[in-house]
Amino acid sequence: MTDWRARVLEAVDADAPAMEGLLAELVRVPSVSGSAAENDLQARLAATLRDQGLEVDHWPIPLAETLAAPGFPGAEVPRAEAWGLVGRLAGRSQGRSLMLNAHVDVVPPGDRDAWAGDPFGGEVRGGSLYGRGACDMKGGLVAALAAVRALCRARVPLGGDLLVACVQGEEDGGLGTFAMLGRGWRADACVIPEPTGLDLVPATAGALTFRLRVPGRAAHAARRTEGVSAVEKFWPLFQALRALERARNAEVDPLLGRWEVAYPIEVGMVRGGDWASSVPDLLVAEGRLGVALDEPVDRARAALEAAVADACRADPWLREHPAAVEWWGGQFASGRTPPDSPLLAAVGRAHTATSDRPQERWAAPYGSDLRLMTGLGGVPTVHYGPGDARLAHGPDESVPLAEVRAAARALAVLALDHCGVAG
Ligand SMILES: [Zn+2]
Repeated sequence: MTDWRARVLEAVDADAPAMEGLLAELVRVPSVSGSAAENDLQARLAATLRDQGLEVDHWPIPLAETLAAPGFPGAEVPRAEAWGLVGRLAGRSQGRSLMLNAHVDVVPPGDRDAWAGDPFGGEVRGGSLYGRGACDMKGGLVAALAAVRALCRARVPLGGDLLVACVQGEEDGGLGTFAMLGRGWRADACVIPEPTGLDLVPATAGALTFRLRVPGRAAHAARRTEGVSAVEKFWPLFQALRALERARNAEVDPLLGRWEVAYPIEVGMVRGGDWASSVPDLLVAEGRLGVALDEPVDRARAALEAAVADACRADPWLREHPAAVEWWGGQFASGRTPPDSPLLAAVGRAHTATSDRPQERWAAPYGSDLRLMTGLGGVPTVHYGPGDARLAHGPDESVPLAEVRAAARALAVLALDHCGVAG
């Protein structure tokens, strides 16, 4: 009998230098959400999947139609063009299908001076590869591609389909996975190799982007008491948001017990006034509201709206001129795959078979495409991938190459186990 597992793992290991090269190459493409490079990377990956011998579906996403579709999860950057990409290694019998889903977009590098090297350099130092997106999540993408390549090279006749979905627009809402599901792609199970340090993450909290418009009344700053400062009126609202955060985190699902704040509310952007010597007549604050596991999105929105309304009622000016709440941009619901799903046990087995590291199980405090896969797609989905999510979105983002290899090994073993081998 052929020992497929041994053959496949040998193929993954033999591929290690190519894996590192491919990761560096992908990190060097600055595929920031909404940039032209995001589309370029999809085209490049389509060629890679074709070279590996996969059937490739690479299609232009009909943007107007998709953005207007019911349940569209939001976007925060304009796009004139976007592409879907799914590679399929066809199963030979009626085995179960597995999707590996990875986003190709990255957030902007931020202050370049805060980086020790080029944010899009893909340099290797001390066994880790550095660059924006190395950890979130090009490391995971390369692990998925390497797993598929190893299965192809070992000529494994998989029973069920193995799909690789490369998606855009995850960072700003989930356009790519939404469009991919809209095109009809599904699988019996899905792994998103987001950075988990090879832990098993079967659930994610959500995050809803909001905007507050706080009115004031303009006056010459020399006569400031004749005006009303929107900056001053923002302060009680900010305190109300902090109090709401405390209340919403008084009791959290045990899967999120490791986080200091499981469902954060943060204001990430504030703009106010238009002249240094005027009383500001408008402050616009934008932030994110954490959504609890299993909490309906409407209920989370209502809680924030009520907290803002209460704070407005307590202030004489805001009572008459209440702040407005808008929901815009990324609307990430929470999502979870139940603990008794066979996928959780299968990923656990694949991990144990390929790694000595004990695996923990927890939920992520950030939103991801997981909720679209489980919710809209009805596909049991987990995160399992290389790297530490703490390094994502910050300077000197990096991923340990040994973890990328370990994830590739585990994903290949998972595919063998889940899809089966045709007799
Ligand atoms: Zn990510």
